[in-house]
Amino acid sequence: MSSEARFQRVHKFGGASLATGRDVARVRGLVGGTDGERAVVVVSAHLGVTALLGGLAQEAAAGRASVERVRVRHRGLLRELGLDPELVDRLIRELAAVLRTIARRAEVEGGPVELGAGERDHVLSFGERLSARIVAAALRAGGLEATPVDAFDLGFVSDGSFGRARPVAGVEETLRERLAEVPGVPVVTGFLAKDRQGRLTTLGRNGSDLTAAIVAEALGARELVLWKGVPGVASADPRLVPGARTIEELSFEDALELARAGAEVLHPDAIAPLRRGGVALRVADVNRPDLIGTRLVEGRAGSGPVAVAGRQGLVRLTLRTAETELELADLAPLGVDRGAIRLLVARPGVCELWMDAAALGKGLPAGAGVELEQDLALVQLIGGPPAGAGPRALAHLAGAGIVPLRSLASEGGVGLFFAVRAAEFVQTLRILHEALLARALSAA
Ligand code: ASP
Ligand code: MG
Repeated sequence: MSSEARFQRVHKFGGASLATGRDVARVRGLVGGTDGERAVVVVSAHLGVTALLGGLAQEAAAGRASVERVRVRHRGLLRELGLDPELVDRLIRELAAVLRTIARRAEVEGGPVELGAGERDHVLSFGERLSARIVAAALRAGGLEATPVDAFDLGFVSDGSFGRARPVAGVEETLRERLAEVPGVPVVTGFLAKDRQGRLTTLGRNGSDLTAAIVAEALGARELVLWKGVPGVASADPRLVPGARTIEELSFEDALELARAGAEVLHPDAIAPLRRGGVALRVADVNRPDLIGTRLVEGRAGSGPVAVAGRQGLVRLTLRTAETELELADLAPLGVDRGAIRLLVARPGVCELWMDAAALGKGLPAGAGVELEQDLALVQLIGGPPAGAGPRALAHLAGAGIVPLRSLASEGGVGLFFAVRAAEFVQTLRILHEALLARALSAA
């Protein structure tokens, strides 16, 4: 044990980088370990599996329990990898039992039931538990000693907020001690924890990033590599903006702002543990491991916008009140969920909330002094300082006949918001990228 190297690098594999047997087989070469370095692997569920499980939980609540699609998906991967086709049968039987328990309730009730607190998390947990077994087996088949571990068995304890649980303070020490005892490369389930009562919880979308960041902090690792199926963090969503490029260096602040603006970067809460632990972060592409990808660094890398991102499906709620200042607490009676608010503009007597339409549910808040406007979008320029960027952006948009309903600098004085109609969303992204980012990037 004395020759045991310190864990220096944590590799996190997202669902898209574990989509096929070929992808899983590739992990061996990526974490191979150089210089006697001992790696830790953190995995998401295989591509599509979390959504599939969410659907099965819903079906079970309607009285139908079937694991067939989960079995076929994972057996397919095992076959492609030439591994024992029965490797995960025990887990799949356990999932079947969980689904049957839910479905039985629906049978007894004679109709669909609500999923109980924690039941959805329990069902979703199987995605990462299955992928950890399959990835570890593939590593062993490739000649690397590896052990699948469930994060909750390493002492990853969370609060009890199902669907968006957060680790409790001080989990790092237990994680460090228990990881040291795992033989070979630990292959840890991302996204999962247990609360103090021992109930399974999940950390929310992209929660595996958070698991990986906390593991990296706990181990004092030098680097966390987030392996994806794309070349790094892009200057815009490449599906919407054809000229989008990979950003080579991104400050933690801008990454956070980008994630909050709606871009798929990483879990926003993953950044704090990395900074605390002095862990370098790299977003890399499994298809091009020779490229560096995007490095996240302290301090702003340069000036001017680095990316453009945004969200559709927003509404604007305008609230008029006699009071000079509106308190957030006043919003509760309207059924407004704080987490859905994307932008808040307050003036004496008037408060404008830009928020996710989905959060309004069925009951639109109505009443005296409340106005609702639908089909809106927010586009945000990330980076700064925005010297001159605002007026230039507005001039370019005006040239295309787009006049934002609102445009303003964000709180920190960096980044700019442009609120537009949903129909103008994609064009706004493209115009701002072309006008303010494409040239800067190609000059770099
Ligand atoms: N599998 C979960 C999701 O799809 C967690 C993760 O991938 O990080 O969001
Ligand atoms: Mg995933």
